[in-house]
Amino acid sequence: MSGGVESFVYNANPGRVVFGAGVLAKLPEEVERLGLRRVLVVATPEQEADAQRIAGTLGDRAAAVFAGARMHTPVEVTERAMETVTAERIDGLVAVGGGSTTGLAKAVALRTDLPQIVAPTTYAGSEMTPILGETENGRKRTRSDPRILPEVVLYDVDLTLTLPVAMSVTSGINAIAHGVEALYARDANPIVSMMAERGIGAMARALPAIHARPDDRAARGEALFGAWLCGVCLGSVGMALHHKICHTLGGTYDLPHAETHTAVLPHALAFNAPFVPDAMAALRRALGTDDPARALFDLAQGLGATMALERLGLPAGAVDEIPGIVLANPYWNPAPLEAPELARLVANAFAGRGPA
Ligand code: NAD
Repeated sequence: MSGGVESFVYNANPGRVVFGAGVLAKLPEEVERLGLRRVLVVATPEQEADAQRIAGTLGDRAAAVFAGARMHTPVEVTERAMETVTAERIDGLVAVGGGSTTGLAKAVALRTDLPQIVAPTTYAGSEMTPILGETENGRKRTRSDPRILPEVVLYDVDLTLTLPVAMSVTSGINAIAHGVEALYARDANPIVSMMAERGIGAMARALPAIHARPDDRAARGEALFGAWLCGVCLGSVGMALHHKICHTLGGTYDLPHAETHTAVLPHALAFNAPFVPDAMAALRRALGTDDPARALFDLAQGLGATMALERLGLPAGAVDEIPGIVLANPYWNPAPLEAPELARLVANAFAGRGPA
């Protein structure tokens, strides 16, 4: 037999997943299973009504709701949540929302080691990772710690039906970005690559169907399944240039997370493509195309995403600063990181041109 499997390391992150339509109904059971008596339900201000309703299903076991989660996990918000944790003698966390809400639960768990039950409502994938990015004084710092990883994830397809189409598209491309960079990670391995290829394919198929009919439960289920797989990728292997640039754009310039990933991904992929033939073969299979970078650009743009960082609020002056910030603290990346090439990449993404 040709090919064969070379030696590799695979790190699995422990966690329990309950997947399907309506699985949030199992939340009281899951809270009971962990023996929790006084949970804090966290959410963003926009999803406070959902958080209150969900707290209601827990009766006395929900001690409080904190609906102050914000994007990029500002430390001052975590400190306010910590006051509630202490005052209410909280013994567990329930997060219902996207990556911002999960980020707040993780930040509290890092400080307290409280168990977390997360019900994701976007495709960001944070619930599958032991990673937390916190923002303080305009800089976003990332760290990894076993206390950060949620213990239980309830993937309820019904919670994603309300995710607006535009956010569904960009959040879905955010998930695809995790899968793409996992395929060419330095510590890539066949288990994670299998999940990446399946996850990317599922998401790319689901997004046009969701765009056409946002309440298409089958497509929503496929997208959430893809988000789960791509989240595992993000939590299992190291990311590269694409995530580094997006991290800088989010932390330093406060650009919106999923939208930024969407605008940058085709460019970062085109930049790395000549150096990652196996990853490109997997992407061609997953996306059914000869040109994955172009296909991702066309998919996102065709579904209405904003492809110009300028229109996402990046100041023109930042274009010259970003290569320096990326190179100051370089990540491993399959293609060599050179300032002129990086400058070209950023300029193309700024203007919303197609990938080079
Ligand atoms: P988000 O959580 O900020 O959500 C965006 C907005 O959409 C919020 O107002 C939210 O309340 C609303 N929303 C979410 N789901 C909804 C739904 N189903 N229906 C209606 N409204 C809904 O967006 P995001 O892109 O999921 O998360 C971004 C944040 O997550 C960033 O801070 C990013 O750094 C972080 N993140 C972290 C990791 C990690 O592993 N640490 C991974 C991915 C993202």
